[in-house]
Amino acid sequence: MSNAELQARKNAATPRGVGVMCDFYADRAENAELWDVEGRRFIDFAAGIAVLNTGHRHPKILDAVRAQLDRFTHTAYQIVPYESYVSLAEKINRLSPGTHAKKTAFFTTGAEAVENAIKIARAATGRPGVIAFGGGFHGRTMMGMALTGKVAPYKLGFGPFPGEVFHAPFPNPLHGVSTADSIKAVQGLFKADIDPKRVAAIIFEPVQGEGGFYQAPADFVRAIRAICDEHGILMIADEIQTGFARTGKLFAMQHYDVVPDLMTIAKSLAGGLPLSGVVGRADIMDAAQPGGLGGTYAGNPLATAAAHAVLEIIEEEQLSQRAEVLGQKLKARLETLKAAVPQIADVRGPGSMVAAEFNDPATGAPSPEFTKQVQTRALERGLLLLSCGVYGNVIRFLFPLTIPMNVFDEALDILEEALTAKATATV
Ligand code: PMP
Repeated sequence: MSNAELQARKNAATPRGVGVMCDFYADRAENAELWDVEGRRFIDFAAGIAVLNTGHRHPKILDAVRAQLDRFTHTAYQIVPYESYVSLAEKINRLSPGTHAKKTAFFTTGAEAVENAIKIARAATGRPGVIAFGGGFHGRTMMGMALTGKVAPYKLGFGPFPGEVFHAPFPNPLHGVSTADSIKAVQGLFKADIDPKRVAAIIFEPVQGEGGFYQAPADFVRAIRAICDEHGILMIADEIQTGFARTGKLFAMQHYDVVPDLMTIAKSLAGGLPLSGVVGRADIMDAAQPGGLGGTYAGNPLATAAAHAVLEIIEEEQLSQRAEVLGQKLKARLETLKAAVPQIADVRGPGSMVAAEFNDPATGAPSPEFTKQVQTRALERGLLLLSCGVYGNVIRFLFPLTIPMNVFDEALDILEEALTAKATATV
C-alpha cells in the first residue's frame, strides 16, 4: 500500500471539504513518533491537534482501554450507567478551578461540549444571547460555527447560523488590540446589539488555539468576570485546546485569579479516544431538565477508562511541570534564532502551549508564505508541525508532554534547520 495509491483513493472517495494536511498515511505511532505506510518516521508535534498530551499509545491508557474492552464497550450511559463516568465526573469536579460545588456531564466531541455549555447557560439564565470573540474557535456544528470568530474556511457557505450571537475583538497587543479596546467593544455590544440582561454567557478561550495561540491577558479575564457579575451573565471558559497540562497547569484558567461558571473540556482529556465534557457550578449544571443533555455515545466507557488513565499519568509523570521545562527550552531556542531569522516576529505561550509568529521583515506584514515554507521544510526532514492564526502566520507546537528528551532535541534541531533553511532536505 503506497501513499500515492491511498491519496488517489481518498480523493475519489471522500469530499474535499474534509481538508487533509498530509499526503502520507499513518501506519503506527508510539509516544511522540509516527510512521507512515511506507515506513517513514515523523516526530509528531501535531499530536492529533492537541489530543495527545500523554503521547501515542501510552501503556497505561492501553491497559485501561483493554481492561474495559473485556468488560463492555457501550451501554449508553443514559440507559445503563457505569461507575467510571461517575468517578471521572467526581475527579474533574475536584480538579477544575473553584472550590464551589460542581457537576460534570460528558459528551463526545469538543463542538458538542460547546453546544451543551450554551444550552445549559440558556436554561440556567432564561436568556438567549451569547458573546464570543474574534479569532476564537469553538467547533464546526451550527452553534460552534456561530461562535467561531473566523469566516474562512469555517463558516463559508454554511449559514445562516443561530441568532443572538455577537462578537467582540479579542485582546491582542501584537495586532493593536488592547484589553481596553476589547472591553469597550463588549460594552459597545450592550449599546448597539443586545441588552446585557438578555445575555446568557460570554465564552472565550484562555489561550486562543486555532486563532493563533494568543493568551487572554489577566486584566481582560478579570474585566470579563466583572461584566458577567454585574449583569448576571455566565462566564464560559473553552479549555478544549488549553486543557490537561498543556499550559503548565492542569487547566489554563488556573493561571488567573478568577473562576469561570462553566468550562468545556475535550481533546487531551482521553488521550485519543473521543470524549468531551462540560464542568461547572452544580446549580447551573442542574438547570437542564432530565433528558435535555446527553447523546448515544456521550461518555463512552472506553473513553472514560482512558481519561482516568490520562489524569493519573499527568499526576505521576508531573506533566504540568514537564510542560514548563519543555516550553522554556523551545522558547529559548526560538529566541536565540531571532537574530538569524528576522521573520520571527513573536515567540510566546504559557507552558508548552508555545507558538512562533512570522512576519515579512521588509513590510512587517504577516507572512503565511514563510510559515508554510517552515512547515514544509520541517515535514521534509521528518517533523510534523501545525500552523494556526487568523493570518495563517503562526506555527503552534503541540508535542506530547511525554516526549523523550532526545526526540525533543532532535525535533528542535530539525526546527532550526527548517527556520534557517541552511541544510539540504533529506528527501
Ligand atoms: N473549542 C476549541 C477551543 C477547539 O480548539 C476545538 C477544536 N480545535 C473545538 C472547540 C472543537 O472541538 P472538536 O473538533 O472536537 O469538535
